[in-house]
Formats: sequence, structure tokens, C-alpha cells
Amino acid sequence: MLNTYQPPLIGCQRETGSSFALNAVIEADLVTHITGKPELILTPSLSGKGQTIARCPKCHVAIWSNYTGGGPFLRFIRVGTLDQPDRLPPDIHIYTSSKQPWVKIPPNVPLVDEFYELEKYWPTRSLERWHVIAPKVQAYKASQDPTCI
Ligand SMILES: [Zn+2]
Repeated sequence: MLNTYQPPLIGCQRETGSSFALNAVIEADLVTHITGKPELILTPSLSGKGQTIARCPKCHVAIWSNYTGGGPFLRFIRVGTLDQPDRLPPDIHIYTSSKQPWVKIPPNVPLVDEFYELEKYWPTRSLERWHVIAPKVQAYKASQDPTCI
């Protein structure tokens, strides 16, 4: 597990149909689907590059996403779909500048207005794992057509 976060960005609110989402970031090759294959749906995102949302083929609940920042190498697992979601409270709250006014963020968890520097907030073990896949992510991003949304 690399980290967890809560992105209440307005675009994310629209994309998730909720005021925020709680994601757990993990290497894609460590995710196993016990039964079935998820439906992969490319949805619009604020970046213009879209986000791939994996949905359960039976109930269509969103179970994880790929964002352009991590390419296909990172999966952002929707924590609420895990068997024990209470074991993964947010490590950081991001995009808080666009949170709904009624969302109250606990004082004991870091928060940032927009995105954040991984090196500043992630624990050493998580950064070590990130550094293993970062070259693949960089190569993937460099291979993408910057003029294509
Ligand atoms: Zn389902």
C-alpha cells in the first residue's frame, strides 16, 4: 500500500457523484480480482486525459481507478469497497480548496489545498515502492500524445 487520500476536488465530486472519495494507492500488479473481470470505463476528468474507472461487472460499483499521474501502474482502490474499510483512514486530505463547506477535516491528518509532493508526505517504505515503479510511470507518460485528450 502506498498511501490513502481523500480528494474532494469539484471535478472529482462530479466524477464520483459524491463530495469526496477515499482511495488507497497500490501497485496495479498487486491487485487481484477474486471473481470476474471489472468493466473498464474511460470517463472524463478535469485534466482532460480521462480516468479509467473499473466497475464490478455485476453491480457496477466503482472498485478502482487509473489516473494519468500513475498510468496503468497504479490503482486507486475505492476504500469503501474493501472488506475492512475502517482499517484505512485517510493519510492526507487533498484538493481541500474545493471541498464542500460542510465537510470538516480532522486536525490530526495533513491537508493540502491541491495536490502534494509525495516525498514530503509518504512514509519511507511507500516511497521505496514508488521509486521502483516511477521509471515505468515516467516512460508511460512520455509515450502519451500531449496533444491528445
Ligand atoms: Zn459487484
